[in-house]
Amino acid sequence: TTAKPVFGFREQPRQMPARIPLALRQDGDWGELYGRFDHAEAKKQAGRCLDCGNPYCAWKCPLHNYIPQWLELARQGRVQEAASLCHETNPLPEICGRVCPQDRLCEGSCTLNDGFGAVTIGAVEKYIVDAALAEGWRPDLSNVMATGKRVAVIGAGPAGLSCADRLARAGVATTVFDRYEAIGGLLHFGIPSFKLDKTVMRARHEILDGMGVQFRLGVEVGRDVSMDTLLDEFDAVFLGLGSYRYTDGGLPGQDLTNVLPALPFLVQNGRLVSGLHPEGAPIAGWEDHIALPDLKGKRVVVLGGGDTGMDCVRSAVRLGAASVSCVYRRDEANMPGSAREVANAREEGVQFLFNRQPLGLLGTEHVTGVRVADTVLGEPDARGRRNAVVVPGSESVLAADVVIIAFGFQPDPPQWLAAHGVELERDGRIRVGKERSRCGGGCSGATAADTLLPFQSTHPKVFAGGDAVRGADLVVTAAYEGREAAAAIVRALKS
Ligand code: FAD
Ligand code: SF4
Repeated sequence: TTAKPVFGFREQPRQMPARIPLALRQDGDWGELYGRFDHAEAKKQAGRCLDCGNPYCAWKCPLHNYIPQWLELARQGRVQEAASLCHETNPLPEICGRVCPQDRLCEGSCTLNDGFGAVTIGAVEKYIVDAALAEGWRPDLSNVMATGKRVAVIGAGPAGLSCADRLARAGVATTVFDRYEAIGGLLHFGIPSFKLDKTVMRARHEILDGMGVQFRLGVEVGRDVSMDTLLDEFDAVFLGLGSYRYTDGGLPGQDLTNVLPALPFLVQNGRLVSGLHPEGAPIAGWEDHIALPDLKGKRVVVLGGGDTGMDCVRSAVRLGAASVSCVYRRDEANMPGSAREVANAREEGVQFLFNRQPLGLLGTEHVTGVRVADTVLGEPDARGRRNAVVVPGSESVLAADVVIIAFGFQPDPPQWLAAHGVELERDGRIRVGKERSRCGGGCSGATAADTLLPFQSTHPKVFAGGDAVRGADLVVTAAYEGREAAAAIVRALKS
């Protein structure tokens, strides 16, 4: 092993893996935008870590990954050990390495941002696990003792999968139920393949199979199997149901033909691209089937500036749209989407129209345009984000053949939760016990939820995490909550 260069970050500039050439992307290439480091590139990029002694990266990572430590193992070429260390904190490292908004999380806090460019933490995390898996690495569960306990996980999204991973490592027999035909939740049915190739999910499925996790796919709890049955047959139940009710904004004209909700558009298209349903037939259990219009040569306008909006604009580019615009009511600095994704979209030819408030959709049968008004930023709202205020008399019309509405998601808890005493917050999120760190350790002014274990619902056998608890958020926070909920379940099963 070569000694770590002290000034590796000076000798070696920050370099992301090569990207698919622009012309191919614009010509409909759905492959993952960023390629993979080869061993030599990964070692060089991992060797840029300064080992600054104050790993803000690890603090800013919601999972508190051991980033400097696995970067050093990667620099030394010890990918199997690095993969094991990655998995100590992160049940889904190769996935987070691909889809985390690193510019806001680990890399955004890297000390080298001070003029040298952050270490490419996400790309190295992806490399470590991909390389180790290719060498045959698998989690070592040889010391795990079966507890004789059984847990049902509802939802095979990142929250449910992370919970299942940790339960399996704790010797708990785990069965994951999901209404869809493949695991991943939004990782499979939402996030497009240019951000996350679906073979990655299949590899993760094999890993979890190998760990003894059972899957019952195509099974909707509440329709195909009842919650009563699960509560009878299992010692605990984890709810990782996600957050799926999309906000439509109530715009006049939103029922016109070729006005599409974002998620069904992405899901349907993803199914076609991945070959899961090449003929685009409706899927059993998928209530949101829409007929996808051909976008070739069309003027596509996407309303909304979050991650979902970015996935829609970049999908529209690959589907051959003549022009793609993104309308967002605030300015670029206040966009919720990752800056990296915005830059990629811009490079692919997407036009951003900031400070525009959509007022309505025009047309008689088919949509023909979007009525918008200019905005200025006003006072901050309750969450500290400045409101967009419409400028009187500034209305204009954007011509459009297809409009995609990407205004975000709200929790849509199933009715059967209430029948089992699982209480909700006012906005529909599942109420769970807080972590001590979040209520200051003492939980003064305690509410009912504060007397519960972290991630335990108001039904003692039922735990929950991910978007169903937080509201629409991130893969890495869902993974964190699944991991922590599993720890709470294991504690509860021991008591
Ligand atoms: P989900 O991933 O939604 O999984 C929930 C699962 O529960 C689903 O598979 C569903 O079928 C299943 N389920 C629900 N009810 C039942 C039932 N009754 N019976 C059986 N199964 C059930 N985050 C990022 O970090 N980076 C990104 O780039 C990013 N891009 C995104 C792009 C889009 C288009 C969207 C919509 C979201 C994106 N996100 C991104 C957010 C991220 O995908 C979610 O925060 C994350 O997937 C939430 O995980 P979850 O496990 O809580 O829920
Ligand atoms: Fe960064 Fe996400 Fe990996 Fe954490 S999990 S180190 S935030 S890429």
